[in-house]
Amino acid sequence: MKIIVGIKRVIDYTVKIRIKADASGVETNNVKMSINPFDEIAVEEAIRLKEKHPEAEVIVVSIGPTSVQETIRHALALGADRGIHVDTPAAPLPLTVAKVLKAVVDNETPHILLLGKQAIDDDCNQVAQMASALLNWPQATFVSHISLEGQTCRAIREVDGGLETLSFPLPAVISTDLRLNTPRYATLPNIMKSKQKPLQVLTLSDLGIEESPHFKVLKVSEPPARKAGAKITVEELVPYIKKVQAEG
Ligand code: AMP
Repeated sequence: MKIIVGIKRVIDYTVKIRIKADASGVETNNVKMSINPFDEIAVEEAIRLKEKHPEAEVIVVSIGPTSVQETIRHALALGADRGIHVDTPAAPLPLTVAKVLKAVVDNETPHILLLGKQAIDDDCNQVAQMASALLNWPQATFVSHISLEGQTCRAIREVDGGLETLSFPLPAVISTDLRLNTPRYATLPNIMKSKQKPLQVLTLSDLGIEESPHFKVLKVSEPPARKAGAKITVEELVPYIKKVQAEG
């Protein structure tokens, strides 16, 4: 059993995002970066599957500049076996990420490609679906429970108004939702051990991929500031709502 987990390095969820002065993107200099929270859940689930199936190997893949190696080391400290860093000047768009993951999957032939449901920086929610299409593998997205019976997976998906249970053959693409598990903390001995675990560095050309962005970001801007609220009495409420509605 082999599991590949895609992990993205993103601005930590506790950081207040600042827009760059030239509106070309968000400021990442001197900003705390972390593993995308849904990807940490994916790593945790892969490690739990490995605990149940000790022959399993967990490989984490991150695409981006050299700094993503820190995120890979974090996943290795949590319990992944080895890492692959695909070196690009910046994190690419979802279609390129999906193509890279397909190329890595073709080389490694895993049983599961485990991803987060979305990266919290660009909120795309596209890579799992695209990778599943490129690989022609079944997909289960927004998953809150996984169980394996031989080469068959049962997954529970969080859908609007309920839970959907799916059964599908492996290999497959699975994307994690928030309630799948609570990730563990890395212990100091495991952080030390992670430094010795293998980390392979590849380029897009090693994988035969050319980055061809299909759109250009023109501008990133702050959302409009919210107007201050008004304090009113109960008697004033209905006329106030009517007035606000009339103003559109
Ligand atoms: P997205 O479709 O961009 O919201 O991302 C969905 C998932 O794809 C993430 O939670 C990661 O598991 C994976 N992913 C996205 N970008 C990268 C990247 N640069 N490197 C590795 N995995 C990624």
